[in-house]
Amino acid sequence: MLVRLEQLSQKAEAALTAAADLEALNELKVKMLGRKGDITLLLRGLKDLGAEERARVGKRANEVKAQLEELIQNRAEELQGLQLQKRLQEESIDVTLPGVALPRGSKHPLTRINEEIVQIFNGMGFAVAEGPEIELDYYNFEALNVPKDHSARDMQDSFYIDEDVLLRTHTSPVQVRTMEKMAPQLPVKIVVPGKVYRKDDDATHSPMFQQVEGLLIDRHITFADLKGTLMLFAQEMFGYNVRVRFRPSFFPFTEPSAEMDISCVMCGGSGCRVCSHTGWLEILGSGMVHPNVLRYGGYDPDHVTGFAFGMGVERIAMLKYGINDLRLFFDNDHRFLRQF
Ligand SMILES: [Zn+2]
Repeated sequence: MLVRLEQLSQKAEAALTAAADLEALNELKVKMLGRKGDITLLLRGLKDLGAEERARVGKRANEVKAQLEELIQNRAEELQGLQLQKRLQEESIDVTLPGVALPRGSKHPLTRINEEIVQIFNGMGFAVAEGPEIELDYYNFEALNVPKDHSARDMQDSFYIDEDVLLRTHTSPVQVRTMEKMAPQLPVKIVVPGKVYRKDDDATHSPMFQQVEGLLIDRHITFADLKGTLMLFAQEMFGYNVRVRFRPSFFPFTEPSAEMDISCVMCGGSGCRVCSHTGWLEILGSGMVHPNVLRYGGYDPDHVTGFAFGMGVERIAMLKYGINDLRLFFDNDHRFLRQF
């Protein structure tokens, strides 16, 4: 039995040294030392031996077992080391390889135009102000001289949340909100970019669109200031050849009120389909701030005057880029967006 034990021991040692990976090693361990392993089975025969021989073989068998266990442990550590080394080699980074280029996006055309408009007015000293898109009826209409049941409300059919709260139909509510905060300081000189909402949906109207509002209140502000400011804006936006004209109009919150047209950017004024053969394109509404609005904002119309204007960002972008369908801005079609 001792001879058999030595044979097993030698065989096991050779096999362990040759084990190629941790899995093979584990299999060997089970095969030798497991419940049905070679050594285990051999030791079961001990009970048939005489007392003296049993002690001798038993002692040797325990030595062999301990020896094999140590061998297994050492080989396992060796294999783990090899495995780690191999992985490090495989995963090493070659810093001389060219990098993977990330595709670069670009700004949405409306964002670009919005920033451009704001930048032009920033250059003239207007600060940016903002207000909530969910607005009180009071700021959206009443404080802008549009009392309940005023017919001007029909032009701006809106989304009501309840009787007194709605999605703002224009950026104008920020006029009175800002005046309330600033009164009686002068000047009030702000541009207000933001989203507005109306119940409209066709090729030139979207239920959500963007406006930029402007407001200047100070002493001795006249219509000449309004014209000079907006003319400079039109030239910076559309080029210095552009001409402007003002047409009388009506807004409840300005008096007098005017629409501003620019000479057609497509035909230069000779008349084409875009300008309906008039040579002119309407780009914004404006006027001198109504005395009632100044009072709502906390300013005395006997001592200060001001002008205000509002323009649609989509409209400006369509004219500047020659886009004929407003909905293209919101379709997120790459073929369209990639052009900007
Ligand atoms: Zn034209």
